[in-house]
Amino acid sequence: MLPFFSESFGNPHSLNHSYGWAAEAAVSQARQELAAAIGADPTEIIFTSGATEANNLAIKGVAEAYLAQGNHIITVQTEHNAVLAPCRYLETLGFRVTYLPVGSNGLLDIAQLAAAFCDQTILVSVMAANNEIGVLQPLAQIGQLCCDRKVIFHSDAAQALGHIPLNVQTLGLDLLSITAHKLYGPKGIGALYVRRRQGPRVQLAPQIHGGPQERGLRAGTLNVPLIVGFGEAVGLAMAEQVEEAQRLGTLRDHLWQRLCDLPGIHLNGDLTQRLPHNLSVSFEGVEGNILLSRLRATVALSSGSACSSADPAPSHVLKAIGHRDKLARATLRFGLGRGTTAEEIERAAQAVIKAVKS
Ligand SMILES: *Cc1c(COP(=O)(O)O)cnc(C)c1O
Repeated sequence: MLPFFSESFGNPHSLNHSYGWAAEAAVSQARQELAAAIGADPTEIIFTSGATEANNLAIKGVAEAYLAQGNHIITVQTEHNAVLAPCRYLETLGFRVTYLPVGSNGLLDIAQLAAAFCDQTILVSVMAANNEIGVLQPLAQIGQLCCDRKVIFHSDAAQALGHIPLNVQTLGLDLLSITAHKLYGPKGIGALYVRRRQGPRVQLAPQIHGGPQERGLRAGTLNVPLIVGFGEAVGLAMAEQVEEAQRLGTLRDHLWQRLCDLPGIHLNGDLTQRLPHNLSVSFEGVEGNILLSRLRATVALSSGSACSSADPAPSHVLKAIGHRDKLARATLRFGLGRGTTAEEIERAAQAVIKAVKS
């Protein structure tokens, strides 16, 4: 990223001189890297400031562009706020939104989804992997339902990219939101995949108006250093994906084995349909705040989402899988990563066992 802050500071949209060409070439390489990672064409990648903006462009952009066809959107109660809030906003404009429930394993019921479609349905938005409990929704089945009904299918894959295989063709996706900082890339850069090559083109109403950048869907000069970092991060994550998923899955399973005998423990979310590097557990009869404060010195843990850690209300995801407020608060969400070692897992397990028992 560094050269693109200094020596190579050209504007990728200035194509009359070599400074611009160098920047444009770097952006183009990153675009190819991203497209290759999800089975897309580089022309289908629209850079945004992150997954939040990509979700807003996808959901509000479809709602506005397809208003003549219908005003009904289907999503899920356990989505990230970056999906739920645009949907709630659209409700204030007269759109109807179905928020599907999930089972106690965190997964939606395909039959319930199928029954939710009506002739006004224009969009289905279901996340690939949940950011709190790590469960993987059945995207291929959802994609098939949407394809049969000619309804646009969007997925927020902020948590999935680089961690599990993701292919927009085989999953039947029309729109896919991704972000760099969930796979060790820089914060403040993301992208929206917008189908235009195979199958029907997706129309979107831009949410930021200005110049013609990004095919007119996202005006503004591209952030070249962050885009270069995004491309590099995706390349690295893809190269290591299979091996790293195996390594982290084994460590995560070991952590669960160490904790599963604790009294009153609940595993949140399906154990097989989940991200390899996520473990979420709740403890019956334990005060959540006290548990977290006793662990703080040893383990960097959170109970829910970073985006709501200032919010005293218990997690909407944990409530959707049936937890009462107190149990939702007594939740630990472990995120394993590239630097996590077996020795650290053992230390974390010992600290949690000691804190829960005390
Ligand atoms: C982190 C995250 C987001 C927000 O992404 P930003 O790039 O920070 O805007 C959206 N959805 C999910 C599922 C996330 O995990």
